[in-house]
Amino acid sequence: MSSEFDLIRRFFTRDTHHTALGVGDDAALLRPGAGMELAVSTDMLVAGTHFFADTDARDLGWKTLAVNVSDLAAMAAQPRWATLAMSLPTADPVWLEAFSEGFFACAGQFDIDLVGGDTTRGPLNLAVTIMGEVPRGQAVTRGGARPGDDIWISGQPGRAALGLARLRGTLTLLPGAEADCIAALQRPQPRVALGLALRGLANAMLDVSDGLVGDLGHILAASGVSAILDVQSLPLQPLLAAGVSPTQARAALLEGGDDYELLFAAPHAMRSRIRDGARAAGVDVTRIGVIEPAGGHALRLREADGGLTLPGTLGYDHFRDAPTGAG
Ligand code: ADP
Ligand code: MG
Repeated sequence: MSSEFDLIRRFFTRDTHHTALGVGDDAALLRPGAGMELAVSTDMLVAGTHFFADTDARDLGWKTLAVNVSDLAAMAAQPRWATLAMSLPTADPVWLEAFSEGFFACAGQFDIDLVGGDTTRGPLNLAVTIMGEVPRGQAVTRGGARPGDDIWISGQPGRAALGLARLRGTLTLLPGAEADCIAALQRPQPRVALGLALRGLANAMLDVSDGLVGDLGHILAASGVSAILDVQSLPLQPLLAAGVSPTQARAALLEGGDDYELLFAAPHAMRSRIRDGARAAGVDVTRIGVIEPAGGHALRLREADGGLTLPGTLGYDHFRDAPTGAG
């Protein structure tokens, strides 16, 4: 087995684009632009908790970076640099080759420099710290939602939950939808272009990693507001087209995690600019509800008959306790 240094040189040292000094010294030297704030986030993926231990190494490499990129997208920041701390049971070159290929595929797509990390022996555990830039004062946090704001979601969330249920053998999908749902789980597409387009338009934003209802709760708590989601506006069609029941589709969309779509609140007056920005970013966006003043219930659902219900009291637990939500 090659030494740690050979391994790092062989698999984790690539050219950099925004970096004064990258992998190989005691610390990296970064060059943020003038007037920029640094956005920094860390996410750890643990085998058995966040992914199946036998997950394809290429997919895992992609996802390890992608879930971090998504956090910066959700701040409306431009991702630039990452570090990678890995604990590995063995230094298997075949696995490392595939993992680094997936990791750098994601790094290449979003022009991110891997600038350092740490490599130790132990149970499989992957932690990335990602850093990016955002002009001072322009980051979109969770705390800015105002009563009257529209609530929007990007993409077709719920597909990752269906893909996970399929992999666990608890659900069958139509053959044409299977690969798409599994790809949503294994190869999430961080919404960087959309996040950047929403600077100055969105009042509050996050990326949905733990489920739409739960993550919307973070925006509501941070902003001191409540919300009503309009069930009829939810983008359920792509899930129904995968061959699941309306109840399963609704559960996957509202409670499934791991899609890494952007959930955001924005004033009514921004609607057309948001649609233009989303179109330019190549991402669908759907208006699914409205922010209300703080009230008795943080979140209510408007059902098809106009009645209001509470999420979580309806027994949509089909997708709970999923062992591979990347949290
Ligand atoms: P030190 O002992 O000074 O912490 P290390 O031996 O841990 O240095 O790492 C040597 C160099 O390789 C450092 O620049 C470190 O950032 C980098 N590095 C270590 N592991 C990784 C990795 N998995 N990916 C990228 N860079 C790494
Ligand atoms: Mg070290």
